[in-house]
Amino acid sequence: MKWFFLTLILNLGCSQNADSYEIKRKIMVKDQIKRRGVEDKLVLKAIQKVEREKFVPEKYHALAYTDGPLPIGYKQTISQPYIVAYMTEHLQVDKQHKVLEIGTGSGYQAAVLAEMAKHVFTIEIIPELAESAEKVLDEIGYKNITVMAGDGYKGWPEEAPFDRIMVTAAPTKIPEKLVEQLAPNGRMILPVGEDVLSQYLWVIKKNKKGVVTKEKILPVRFVPMVKE
Ligand code: SAH
Repeated sequence: MKWFFLTLILNLGCSQNADSYEIKRKIMVKDQIKRRGVEDKLVLKAIQKVEREKFVPEKYHALAYTDGPLPIGYKQTISQPYIVAYMTEHLQVDKQHKVLEIGTGSGYQAAVLAEMAKHVFTIEIIPELAESAEKVLDEIGYKNITVMAGDGYKGWPEEAPFDRIMVTAAPTKIPEKLVEQLAPNGRMILPVGEDVLSQYLWVIKKNKKGVVTKEKILPVRFVPMVKE
């Protein structure tokens, strides 16, 4: 109850500063993310650190820590914070990993991954979004993120293989090119489905011999992964 009133006051308050965002982030981590079962300390630390308001249009700054996706223009959305945390936890990223993300969008998920990985390569099909994400990530100071405007179905052959791959738009089938670009002992997480009502998150694992296993873990709603 105490947190509810604190959130309400913070959301109604017109002056938004770094401290109030920090408090909102703490509440978000506690109420939206930990409470739903995300436990990985490094994931929680990354989410606590990345300033989500910097990745949404100014008119949504006050809503940056609410429990849902938000519009980022071009009919696209930044994902719900809980889903970002859940997917990141299931990807099991570590500091040695080279990570590929498909669907840069605002750049927020790339920033969360970059807090935990060695390097993040991220592909966005809408050039304007790729450009604005690159700009904000640059301004924040990330040196371990490379953004490319292009078609994620092709992956990034020049940089493959990747230890981890995260797709944040939903294809109708698991893209085989991406499975091919997964390293031995690699892991990929992605939403797959014909439409928003039949999408599931899948975890794809490749063992050290290259044998691939696939597991469906959670119903989700993502924007579709489009073809070029
Ligand atoms: N990860 C993002 C949210 C992604 S929304 C964030 O943190 O903000 C999904 C994004 O995938 C959209 O920006 C959409 O333009 C992009 N997308 C859709 N199809 C794609 C494709 N084939 N290749 C690369 N990006 C794609």
